[in-house]
Amino acid sequence: MVSIALDGPAGAGKSTLARAAAEKLGYIYVDTGALYRAVGLKFSREGHGTELDCDIEKILEDTSVDIRFIGKEQHVFLDGEDVNSLIRTPEISMMASAVSAKPPVRAFLLELQRKLARENNVIMDGRDIGTVVLPDATVKVFVTATPETRANRRYKELTEKGMSVNYDDILSDIKTRDYNDSHRAVAPLKVAPGGIVFDTDDLGFEAALDSLMKIIEKGVNQ
Ligand code: C5P
Repeated sequence: MVSIALDGPAGAGKSTLARAAAEKLGYIYVDTGALYRAVGLKFSREGHGTELDCDIEKILEDTSVDIRFIGKEQHVFLDGEDVNSLIRTPEISMMASAVSAKPPVRAFLLELQRKLARENNVIMDGRDIGTVVLPDATVKVFVTATPETRANRRYKELTEKGMSVNYDDILSDIKTRDYNDSHRAVAPLKVAPGGIVFDTDDLGFEAALDSLMKIIEKGVNQ
């Protein structure tokens, strides 16, 4: 099986690029952030905030997270419920970042991610795919851009969905999440050994996709 690991900070354009590249290659696209978001939603539903002052393992014992593909679209199921439409809010972004720093949560989601890559050709996007989840991935790419570029993209994406959001709040959330994601003790966000850094700052979508396809094709054919 071929696996393409696409890591990088929030809003770098990973998911849009990964989805389009997967379509071109005929691979499945796995958005692993959605798994952490589903767990974040669970803890939020249990009445917890980002301080997570609770028995994490006990809650996880009573939690199921699964991915199903409906058409080509990934749907995340939390305790049997399709929660795709509930996990993209700013509140759940912060909860996902908080739960993702907890080792039991990362362990809880690891096997599901590896299984998907064992059974399918995948493009998997996340933070630790090339470093932890799939260290033997065929190609590892680290997609990045400045916090301001990323906040702009996220602002456009959310307002286009009709959500009422504030740019400064998004920028501040992105900076907080960058800090949390790269400073946590377990599976911090960093470039994987052998990973290719891909800066999308000055690139529009088509140009970025073009460059990414070249990186992937070169890596797969090596
Ligand atoms: O990619 P997305 O923004 O949806 O991810 C939500 C949060 O989940 C991130 O801020 C990060 O903390 C966490 N995450 C992670 N490891 C992954 C994917 C996401 O820690 N592989």
